[in-house]
Amino acid sequence: MITMKILLVYPKIPVTYWGFQHALKFVSKKAAFPPLGLVTIASLIPDRHEKKLVDLNVEKLTDKDLKWADCVFISAMLIQKASVRDIIDRCKRLGVKTVAGGPLFTSEREAYDDVDHLILNEGEITMPEFLADLERGEARHIYTTDQWADITKTPVPDWSLVKVGKYSSFNIQYSRGCPFQCDFCDITTLFGRVPRTKDAGQIVRELEAIYATGWRGELFFVDDNFISNRKKLLESVLPAIIEWNESHGRPFCFLTEVSINIADDEDLMKMMVQAGFNGAFIGIETPDDTCLGECQKTQNRNRDLISCVSKIQEAGMEVLGGFIVGFDSDNETIFGRMIRFIQESGIVTAMVGLLNAPTGSRLYQRLMKEGRIETRFTGDNTDYTMNFVPKMDRNILEKGYEKIVKTIYSPKYFYERVVNFLTRYHPNGISEGYSFSDIRAFLRTVFRLGIFGKERRYYWKLLRWSARNRPDTFPLAIRFAIYGYHFRKLYES
Ligand code: SF4
Repeated sequence: MITMKILLVYPKIPVTYWGFQHALKFVSKKAAFPPLGLVTIASLIPDRHEKKLVDLNVEKLTDKDLKWADCVFISAMLIQKASVRDIIDRCKRLGVKTVAGGPLFTSEREAYDDVDHLILNEGEITMPEFLADLERGEARHIYTTDQWADITKTPVPDWSLVKVGKYSSFNIQYSRGCPFQCDFCDITTLFGRVPRTKDAGQIVRELEAIYATGWRGELFFVDDNFISNRKKLLESVLPAIIEWNESHGRPFCFLTEVSINIADDEDLMKMMVQAGFNGAFIGIETPDDTCLGECQKTQNRNRDLISCVSKIQEAGMEVLGGFIVGFDSDNETIFGRMIRFIQESGIVTAMVGLLNAPTGSRLYQRLMKEGRIETRFTGDNTDYTMNFVPKMDRNILEKGYEKIVKTIYSPKYFYERVVNFLTRYHPNGISEGYSFSDIRAFLRTVFRLGIFGKERRYYWKLLRWSARNRPDTFPLAIRFAIYGYHFRKLYES
């Protein structure tokens, strides 16, 4: 049996909306999340191999690290392309074998012919096949599958590789796939339309494993749509999470991604809040029903989106919203309507992007037929780029987009939205408490935002408002002030 020294490398994520890089300095952290995909892959590699992890978002990758390794395993998303190229080139120069997998390589495999082994699609299927061939000295260049892995068999991620104190949140996965078919989204190509879920016992074991690392605080369920199997959630998974979290003194609060139809389901919202969920990202996309029809976002159509958002907020969950401009049906009125919608909804964390067509999406296929695809999607829909020719004049679209993001993240509009949200938000009764690092983060906001920040007037106004009217939301108000700084900086640069 061969034994290898395997170096797992997670490429650098550039400064992005979800990277929270400008916010991390307030809380003395280096990155928002550890590389869940890579530590899951690590758990599929037999223990006789020596494994190390270098996450370029929290530490440097040295030549010494690379020379130590017999093999470098890289996992990446589209957004990490630049760093991926740099890592591959360094491995080539030093003569180290490379193995790569994850969404970037699965979507754009032809750009990575110089990687020694591409382990594509679902790692639970392709990685064991590769390792077995490697053992026999017969490893191929590409491993791929059209099967979906049974994720009830996915092992608990190998968290022992991660430097816990460097991250501001932890992550976990319960399901893969989504039943909807929004045409700009490649999730169903990557993970299928029939959602696959883990079992309650498995989730409890994963919670235990994260708890054992010493991590306490926010845990992000990175599912494509957490509520895609409602029955299983209500009958087994949420009760198990509730019991586990309560019996451990509520060490975790949760965040996830869901579809807007959660607003129709009071029982589900109630149980999620009871389990410790205090926020959910939802693809709202646009207040324009014609555009929703164009992109086949059927679940968002024929409903009062503002009142759906309010219901979720009132139930005890913050709504983080995704928004898009640049649909063929958009006209110049969309920019003002989008700003009004976001302000009225009280969605503090509103990620507005220009429409892009990822390679695996149905939108990509349509635009390709129409001869409108110009380039590949960068993976960052907030970087002012589009990979196709829009119907609206590109200059007008870019200016309108800029107007939206600069307005909603200007201190006046941002802090107004925070108060709007906190007014209607009813926390789940789980006090987040104040740790030493919370107090340190608060003092940093006083210095950076309250004394030297452009937003100082609005910052103090928010703190006064919160102290007088909603002292229970004071820690959240501080957190939003930090987020607001990140978003403002992002769009100023
Ligand atoms: S955008 Fe969201 S709801 Fe739509 S297909 Fe993708 S994951 Fe599903």
